[in-house]
Amino acid sequence: MEEGLIKRLMASMKCGVCGQGYEVSNINILGHHDDLWFLSALCPACHTRCLVAAVIKEGRVPEVITDLTEAELDKFRNAGSLTADEVLDMHDFLKDFDGEFSRLFSQK
Ligand SMILES: [Zn+2]
Repeated sequence: MEEGLIKRLMASMKCGVCGQGYEVSNINILGHHDDLWFLSALCPACHTRCLVAAVIKEGRVPEVITDLTEAELDKFRNAGSLTADEVLDMHDFLKDFDGEFSRLFSQK
């Protein structure tokens, strides 16, 4: 998958805090694990930084598994289960959780 395409797809998302649409320039690709991609997006309006995990397959609409604000990420950090700043940690995290990933993150 081409990173530019992924950024354009993710730019169709809106900020969960204020509803402002993201811009391609505000989206960073952190890494991916097969079709599961991690991105961080910075809202151009309220400057909330958001971590997005999405399943992106060629020719299909991305399936967003979770989008977490920094405050929500802090909860995971405090729980000692996720260091979101480090892609390698996320890869390890995914290896451990794999099939239960979406369920874990649905417990908001
Ligand atoms: Zn916002």
